[in-house]
Amino acid sequence: MSESATKKILLSGSRPTGRQHLGNYVGALAQWLELQDECDCLFMIADWHALTNNYNDTSVLPENIRNQVIDWLAVGLDPAKATIFVQSAIKEHAELALLLGMFTPLGLVERSTSWKDAVVEQQNDELRTYGFLGYPVLQAADILIYQAHIVPVGKDQVEHIEKAQDLAQKVNVRYGEVFRVPQWRLGKSAVLLGNDGRKMSKSYGNCIYLSETPEEVWEKVRVMMTDPARVRKTDPGDPEKCLVWTYHKVFTPEERHAEIVENCTGAKWGCIQCKRVLDDALKAHFGPARERRAALEANPDQWKDVLTEGNKKARERAQATMEVVREKLHLFEDGK
Ligand code: SF4
Repeated sequence: MSESATKKILLSGSRPTGRQHLGNYVGALAQWLELQDECDCLFMIADWHALTNNYNDTSVLPENIRNQVIDWLAVGLDPAKATIFVQSAIKEHAELALLLGMFTPLGLVERSTSWKDAVVEQQNDELRTYGFLGYPVLQAADILIYQAHIVPVGKDQVEHIEKAQDLAQKVNVRYGEVFRVPQWRLGKSAVLLGNDGRKMSKSYGNCIYLSETPEEVWEKVRVMMTDPARVRKTDPGDPEKCLVWTYHKVFTPEERHAEIVENCTGAKWGCIQCKRVLDDALKAHFGPARERRAALEANPDQWKDVLTEGNKKARERAQATMEVVREKLHLFEDGK
């Protein structure tokens, strides 16, 4: 039995938002780097999902996909270990979503928190679409088509996996074992705020991007919010009230943490000195990623080759599931 056949199948993905920032890194990519050794991982660029709530301008998608894949590869996602693919390249997702739709009671999708928040509470008519209502069904198709054992999620996404479980069970009860019933696994992901202390978001202009140079990163670290009570160097600080400390906890080696706390609470060093320590830690942490990025930039087609290969592998697996689905559901197969 091959090694991948003994590993649990894991599906995860994200919408193509383009250049990845440190929030994306600690929220997902850092866990994916561990998971790619532990599981048979499929990492999906969910471009159809991007359309469910943002369909007016799709012109940015190609550039966003390119930048996202390059960032994934630069941080160390390894196509030799994991299958990296684009959702829209695997048309079988759409076929399965259509079929699962036949088994989906309206209540199942109308109960979605995202639907209730956007359409019912906020009366956002732009999102009163069939696509947005049905995106949990498309998500169920994404998962079930690979017979995934595990889907890593944040707490707010558990309900989506429960919908996929419901749909898998519904089909299995009526037509025999068609789908593996997936399980969710809560990620240990950390949340990192932007350098102004708000949620890290492109629209706030407060992101530190993985593709930025060390100089650009330093400029953002240099102006990062600190403990507001620490006005002068002689004022003792409280790391627990400081944004820089949240970054130290993620990126600065643990053996330096006591020194940082002591120098902050004892007003022994200034915040710029403390930020220099963080900057050094970031440089060390992302040094290998910068080297991989330089190699990717020297070979401009490499990211496309990775996707072509990943799409091929994903497609074969999706097609194998769909053959079973069509047979069990007694659907017409040309030539059979
Ligand atoms: S010394 Fe460091 S931890 Fe303390 S307030 Fe300044 S930046 Fe924050």
